[in-house]
Amino acid sequence: MKRHFDIAVIGAGPAGANFVRLADSEQKSILVIHNEAWKKPCGGLLSPDAQRVLASYDAVLPSDVLASPQIFAVRVIDIRSGLVRRYPRHYLNMKRDAFDAWLRSLMGKHITYVNGRCVKLTDEGKYFRIRLSDGTEYTADTLVGADGASSIVRRTFFGKEKCRRYTAIQQQFQAENADPFYSCIYDGKTSPACSWILFKDGIMTYGGAFETKNSRKAFEEQKKRLIAGGFISAKAFEYPIKTEACEVLCPSFRGYCTGNDRIFLIGEAAGFISASSFEGISYALLSGEALAKSIDTAHPAMTYRAKTAKLRLKAKEKSLKRDILASDILREIIMRSGITAIHSHRKEMS
Ligand SMILES: Cc1cc2nc3c(=O)[nH]c(=O)nc-3n(C[C@H](O)[C@H](O)[C@H](O)COP(=O)(O)OP(=O)(O)OC[C@H]3O[C@@H](n4cnc5c(N)ncnc54)[C@H](O)[C@@H]3O)c2cc1C
Repeated sequence: MKRHFDIAVIGAGPAGANFVRLADSEQKSILVIHNEAWKKPCGGLLSPDAQRVLASYDAVLPSDVLASPQIFAVRVIDIRSGLVRRYPRHYLNMKRDAFDAWLRSLMGKHITYVNGRCVKLTDEGKYFRIRLSDGTEYTADTLVGADGASSIVRRTFFGKEKCRRYTAIQQQFQAENADPFYSCIYDGKTSPACSWILFKDGIMTYGGAFETKNSRKAFEEQKKRLIAGGFISAKAFEYPIKTEACEVLCPSFRGYCTGNDRIFLIGEAAGFISASSFEGISYALLSGEALAKSIDTAHPAMTYRAKTAKLRLKAKEKSLKRDILASDILREIIMRSGITAIHSHRKEMS
């Protein structure tokens, strides 16, 4: 089997798969190393921005990727003030694993795909050496880190970066009734960010992002506060079926790292994710596309940076939004104003 490649891509989530799909050609050899054993904890909501990106590719989402119910509104809960408001927003509710598998199925036919975990990367001067957990080694001239929030590519070559990180925890429960909206929960006492509740094919997922130190304690505390505030019944949280956790980035005005002329970072590995809602699929798709359009140019790093300028700007706006929504006073003013909120026929607390 071939061991040396023009490009090695570590990770084939939305960023890696979309990059490979668009960069694939007979002219270059691409190695994709993807750890299938690891399943990305995710809400599995395809935002309007991500839907727009897929529409620009004329992509047809297979129906088996979709989950029930579809979602037309966000229900914002502020535990401190007891306020609840609904805002119109259309998400596609989907099965994240199936979505990623579908994207990977579109990755071109000239690539070499290896299911494995990259554990070591070394720069040998003219090329990179890539070692997998089973000891197999490959080499490549160019490296693409599409390996998510805990990126080994970013850690190895760009050291300790200035990006805020939280621990995301999600728990799933059997649910009798499904709400046709996704609840976005704010509680400054337990989390610096938003948490969420959503339903998928008879399962309720409750998740949030917490300061890594004592994250599990804060997660449990927030559940208790939701029950005490009357936002959810204790019964709904009685029997967790599954608990999962991972790192999630929360970029502020700095913290983005797109790489250099030999190593590129895309998706969450580069810091592209919304700091206010943790929506990251559209950023992953768009940064993968930007790199595919840059990698064969005379100055790929410069071109890629330029092509992601709008994305960085959008992420910075989200960071500002996050700071506004994290403020108890500003959040309460916005929610009390009722601007853009939908009138709900269900009795909500306020
Ligand atoms: C709890 C949670 C819920 C979220 N919910 C949503 C949501 O509902 N909607 C939304 O748009 N965004 C959501 N996000 C954000 C979104 O999941 C990410 O921003 C997005 O997945 C980033 O895509 P990516 O391709 O950059 O990285 P990833 O999706 O993380 O993909 C990277 C892939 O690389 C592989 N990999 C990693 N390391 C290695 C290695 N060493 N060797 C080989 N392979 C490796 C992994 O298997 C992984 O699948 C959520 C995030 C979290 C944490």
